[in-house]
Amino acid sequence: MPEIKVLPEEVVSKIAAGEVIERPASVLKELIENSLDAGASKIEIEIKKAGRGLIRVHDDGRGMAREDLRLALGRHATSKLNVFEDIYSLATFGFRGEALYSVFAVSRLKLTSFKAGADSGYTLEGEGGRVIAELPAPPVKGTTIEAADLFFNTPARAKFMKSDNAERAHLIKTVEEAALANLGVSFRLVIDGAEIFSLPALPGGLWENLKNRAAAIFGKSVYGGLARIEGKTPGMAVYGLFSRPDALAATRANQHYFVNRRPVGSALLRQALYRGYGHMLTGRHPACALFLELDPGAFDCNIHPQKRDVKFSSENEIFKTISNTIYEELLSKQTAAVAMTAPEAGKQFSAPDVPAYREGAAPPAPAAETGSLFGPGLQPEPLTPQAHPDWRGKDLSYIGQLAKSYLLFESGDGLLVVDQHAAQERVLFEKYLDEFSKGAVKVQPLLVPLEAELPRSQMETVLKWRDWMKSAGFEIDQRGPGTALLRAAPALFYFTQAAFSEFLGYLSEVLGEPEAAAEDLKRNIIATMACKKSIKAHDFVKPQEALRLMDDLKRTKDSYHCPHGRPTLFFLSGGDIARRFQRSGAL
Ligand code: ADP
Ligand code: MG
Repeated sequence: MPEIKVLPEEVVSKIAAGEVIERPASVLKELIENSLDAGASKIEIEIKKAGRGLIRVHDDGRGMAREDLRLALGRHATSKLNVFEDIYSLATFGFRGEALYSVFAVSRLKLTSFKAGADSGYTLEGEGGRVIAELPAPPVKGTTIEAADLFFNTPARAKFMKSDNAERAHLIKTVEEAALANLGVSFRLVIDGAEIFSLPALPGGLWENLKNRAAAIFGKSVYGGLARIEGKTPGMAVYGLFSRPDALAATRANQHYFVNRRPVGSALLRQALYRGYGHMLTGRHPACALFLELDPGAFDCNIHPQKRDVKFSSENEIFKTISNTIYEELLSKQTAAVAMTAPEAGKQFSAPDVPAYREGAAPPAPAAETGSLFGPGLQPEPLTPQAHPDWRGKDLSYIGQLAKSYLLFESGDGLLVVDQHAAQERVLFEKYLDEFSKGAVKVQPLLVPLEAELPRSQMETVLKWRDWMKSAGFEIDQRGPGTALLRAAPALFYFTQAAFSEFLGYLSEVLGEPEAAAEDLKRNIIATMACKKSIKAHDFVKPQEALRLMDDLKRTKDSYHCPHGRPTLFFLSGGDIARRFQRSGAL
């Protein structure tokens, strides 16, 4: 009796499904790709129960004939590949004939299609890979696929699903990426009866269309910070919309990468992006819709079961093209700013010295913030200012304000220089945390609620946090699919409309799942972000206010740093100052 057995078809299909279908969003991605491959100009998507209840995709593409319906559900059944070599020159999204087979294996599937010229449309119904019924259907152009009760027969897989909100966010991101890459196709997305998107097919030129889509998908505040970038080298082109360096975000949430309009997750592309920003990143992240166009033979997306990752034949060239293009374009867009600080305005800027891409190399370390009061070329000799002077026990006398930003005090035998905004943030941060931990956040209702436009996937996150945010003093409501309202906020903070939408954007990017994080950590994050976005006291500070601020600062737990870790003050001793004048001794 041989020990090796051939697995039954039912088991084989579930194994295949496990590789291709990781979560509801993978089903949706495959179905949308099939519709695009079928030449659809309109794709309508309906989701119930975060995709576990139902994923329905309707398109107006070329449809399938009756005899093809059953074939389409079989393994390795594809109309897109004839000989193996075709894999290297494909212009379609699908080619392996595994998607429908896999979806069918783990759901109750209904496939309805009509092909022009046929006598009627047809519907196939089945579940877990078995066809149960075949019926005639009305001759409606295109194809409708409904996958219901996903993972009904693979309970172990069902357990791996994240919260409904998390799965919904993935589903929405899938549609967002398809819509960014297929501008001539209209997309409509309805989740549990509510319309999330209705994006018309766009007739204009590439850039006009891309900007239109991006505005709808990123939401106003992120979109407003994007710049158009494009560049070419032999054999490849890169283009897209990228955050201006002054409009970076707290996380990678709004990054979309495409190779020949195929959404991909690629470490190479991400690292090239970060290298392109180089020193302009200050620990923050760009949003992007990055499109790379290559010869179809120059990359392979067959290495990944969900076709998410790609392998490139010339990684170094791609890395350099992307990073150089971004770097040069961002600089040229900043010329006004650059001309002010560069000693030789008008000089050609050479691209950064980009090292060859190495597998697994970390993105470049973000440069520290390096604002200088003195401008380049005028750096004073290095002094030895003390970052942690013992200033609390000493008398302070206020000298005045510098550049509406720094407060100068005579303290003991030297000069204490205080960054007034950093100091205000520290004070506000600790007051708020104190109120919060006592369960006594003073809340101020807003006469006119503030509105924030958010990408739909971020809106989902904000809603998850709504109850917790209320305990933090923020009353947030939803108005429409992508609009959040702030009705009340902690009395300590004051937000503008723009600051509120950035605050929510940060929040949804940074916080993750409400249950997952420790309470202390959540409080710290919210306090840090709120302090950063809240408007600080006016720039001009009167002497009494300056002294009161120092009094408040004295009582904080860490008077040397703002909540983000920047210094609030430094001290120059009399000796240091005297040395600058080549004197000996103290003042
Ligand atoms: P692949 O896309 O890799 O070919 P799939 O399993 O996704 O494999 O689909 C199998 C076949 O079914 C496709 O090659 C195509 O001929 C047909 N098909 C699937 N979806 C559609 C659709 N929406 N419209 C027309 N034909 C479709
Ligand atoms: Mg397919």
